[in-house]
Amino acid sequence: MTGRIHSIQTMGAVDGPGLRGVVFMQGCPLRCAYCHNPDTWTFEGGQEVTAEELCGKLLRYRSYYKNGGVTVSGGEPLMQGEFVAELFRLLQSEGIHTALDTSGIAPIEAARCVLPFTNLVLCDLKFTSDTLYRKYTGMPMQPVLDFLDEIEAAKVPFWVRHVVVPGMTDSDEEVASIFRICQRYQMFEKLELLPFKKICISKYQSMNLPFPLDATPECSPQRIQELYQMLNLD
Ligand code: SF4
Repeated sequence: MTGRIHSIQTMGAVDGPGLRGVVFMQGCPLRCAYCHNPDTWTFEGGQEVTAEELCGKLLRYRSYYKNGGVTVSGGEPLMQGEFVAELFRLLQSEGIHTALDTSGIAPIEAARCVLPFTNLVLCDLKFTSDTLYRKYTGMPMQPVLDFLDEIEAAKVPFWVRHVVVPGMTDSDEEVASIFRICQRYQMFEKLELLPFKKICISKYQSMNLPFPLDATPECSPQRIQELYQMLNLD
């Protein structure tokens, strides 16, 4: 079984618990206004690998994965669901913790294929209304809510991540709504608020693409702290 990957990060510290190998899959159906990885968008690019080859590469770093494991991110990993399921199956058979970092936008069959081999889901909950979801990602929101229901049914623990963009997703009301959605689920474990940054601008420039949020300021660490305090999560 082969899949298309964009790149591998050997020691990631921000995509799930502990130190982790992080695989960035190639291809994403969304076009988030604040995307940091426009170079993962096309399904044609990247490098083709077999699940066995990729597992072998990741296992070379297994001594670093204590308290960690492997996270598959993107792009959108569920767009290559069968490949990710096979990779996770191989990793779990070696005792490696598996985390799926996803927007949740994918055919539900892909989720059903991957979740049985997933120890933790990191789900990016971007907006709380279909209107905003469509405006800033180009896709409807309902598949994401269906995906959260699917994680709950599969009894896989999950964290929710929310990128805090000034003037777009940073109001008390929007973040409180995100947290209310999370609290509907028994398998929900943690909310991570990620500050919007603009370090991706050079990627957009090199691809001759306009960055839609060029004029938007970065989110300050203070604002993130205030939001955690507002939710009593500090
Ligand atoms: S889901 Fe992730 S990779 Fe895809 S467009 Fe959005 S931020 Fe970029």
